[in-house]
Amino acid sequence: MKRILIAGFRQETGSFNPKPSTYDDFDVLTGQNLLDASRESGGYVGGALKVFDPREDIEVVPTYSASAGTGGPVTTADLDRLISELLERVESESNIDGVYLSLHGAMAGETEDDPEGRVLEGVRKHVGDVPLTASMDFHGIITDKLVEGIDAISFLHTYPHIDSFETGERASINLLKMLNGEIKNPTTGRVKIPLLARGNQLITKTGKFGEAIRACQDIEASEGGIAAGVNVGNPFTDVPDLRSNTIVTVDGDQARADEEAMKLARFMWDKRHLWFATLQSMEEIVQRGEAEDGLMVCGDPADSTASGASGDSNAILKGLLHYGYSKRALIFIVDAPAVAQAFEAGVGSTIQVGLGGSIDQARFRPLDCEVYVQSLSDGVHGSGIVKSRAGRTAKFKLNQHTVVASERAAATTSSTFFLSQGEEPKDYDFVIAKSPNGFRTHYESFASQIVYADVPGSTSADVTSLPYKKCPRPIFPLDEGVEPGF
Ligand SMILES: [Zn+2]
Repeated sequence: MKRILIAGFRQETGSFNPKPSTYDDFDVLTGQNLLDASRESGGYVGGALKVFDPREDIEVVPTYSASAGTGGPVTTADLDRLISELLERVESESNIDGVYLSLHGAMAGETEDDPEGRVLEGVRKHVGDVPLTASMDFHGIITDKLVEGIDAISFLHTYPHIDSFETGERASINLLKMLNGEIKNPTTGRVKIPLLARGNQLITKTGKFGEAIRACQDIEASEGGIAAGVNVGNPFTDVPDLRSNTIVTVDGDQARADEEAMKLARFMWDKRHLWFATLQSMEEIVQRGEAEDGLMVCGDPADSTASGASGDSNAILKGLLHYGYSKRALIFIVDAPAVAQAFEAGVGSTIQVGLGGSIDQARFRPLDCEVYVQSLSDGVHGSGIVKSRAGRTAKFKLNQHTVVASERAAATTSSTFFLSQGEEPKDYDFVIAKSPNGFRTHYESFASQIVYADVPGSTSADVTSLPYKKCPRPIFPLDEGVEPGF
């Protein structure tokens, strides 16, 4: 019987979001709960368990998983607590033959630039030199510690991301092959690329980036191929290792690993002018929205609650009002003070609020307006063992528009949260998705138009607008005349 230790540590940090993430933002699962929740919800660990569960020669050892969506840097005390809790659980287990780690990769603390590296170091110290594989988002930050400590990293192969389950499966199959000797000597080649990438060409089904991913899949399917990925990093995680990377792991052939990683890196660098987002002015968006029928889905990449932003931008709402948009919009906004006022006043009351700008005050000024309080809720949504928590939530009528305000950031990449508040985006003419592209998976089938607003925010797709402090320079497109260094 081989004992496989499982642990998870996932969050995507937006360094320019002024609101720090805390322990309470994480869903912490341990032991049997971790297995039950993962089998139910799928995801990376669900995919891993699909591989391990049918095997009678494998005993899974579930330890600890801390998982959050996105948010500001994790406070030092809370990050220390999460890491020490995880390592305590890991250290309570012995006789471990292999490890599967589920990481996002783009977590950052207020004072720690490489939380995943610290976790890995602690796990390695305890388990020793046993096979260890990991699944990761390709928006993760890749540090030397991760590349050296993990035998093979399986990255997502889709954007918008729809293959976390399959990525967990791939990492786990690799682990089993290492345990049974089918993979003998995992050898990794890696190229660091001074590049921050954004935009629609990253959409794997339709964009140029898909070609790189298909090359990675070919490598994985080839004789001796183990894992191949192009990691573009989360451009909003401002840490010393922020950049793009190509990482290829094959069995015992360093020259081949290096060569494949270099080929992928050249592809990404040669196409660097493609990796940017095309954004539209609010004036143009309102004109198009007025001119065409059907649902317009407006991406707000700059205030993406799927990329680490604060979610309190009112820039698009202001644009709609300023340019006199006459149809009906459905809008989500993080606004704890407005929610508190609504709970105080009660359903059916009309109140004066300052919508937006409650967190990212340097970028957004509150919009003073009169709203009607239509409903109040606890903001809990989703089904299953682990629920999503938007905090107390108030639904407002603002002219002909509906504004759903919550204490915490909620994901608006799908209709789930809006539906939990009794609102169906299909019934509207305009809906804001606080996301750069992930929303397309859900909305594409019924949206008439998809647009991306050119508005400010801490996760702006125009990365040149952001106040980087730690990101290595020079880097494209922040600097002129950048040399790739390979
Ligand atoms: Zn991602």
